[in-house]
Amino acid sequence: MLQRLGRWLRAAGYDTLIARDAEADYELLRQALDDGRLLITRDRELTQHRRAPGTVIYIEGDNLQQCAAGLSEKVSINWLLAPFSRCMNCNTPLVDASPQQIRSLPLQRKEHINAAFYCPECNQVFWDGSHVKRMRRHLRDWAEKYSPPAESTERRRVPQLTKA
Ligand SMILES: [Zn+2]
Repeated sequence: MLQRLGRWLRAAGYDTLIARDAEADYELLRQALDDGRLLITRDRELTQHRRAPGTVIYIEGDNLQQCAAGLSEKVSINWLLAPFSRCMNCNTPLVDASPQQIRSLPLQRKEHINAAFYCPECNQVFWDGSHVKRMRRHLRDWAEKYSPPAESTERRRVPQLTKA
């Protein structure tokens, strides 16, 4: 579930690392501290570590909605930080797709494109079609429900997810 949440944080524009299953908890905590990231976890034991305060964010929830709500309660998340500026698969900042790349997309999709973006890491083109429109609505919905008042500024640190 946290991996899905991680992909949504990337969709919102947050620099988000998603832990591989095999990574040791202590290693994740060390990396989070080194990088100045938050470590989002469902592992309550991690919150007991002496260096956890201020870095480890424990959240509960059985579905994506609950996880997003739980996270938003503990940290100021701006769900409209920079939508679709990062690759949801690999976290790499997206660039504008070239006209050539857009031309190479399947025809029936091309007709509905507003904008297209390219991930140099995945070598993949994403376009602002109906799927992205649905996701934008979702982000706007979360922003309305969960975003903190505008004066809140605790948004500098970026999340990192650990395994569920
Ligand atoms: Zn990518």
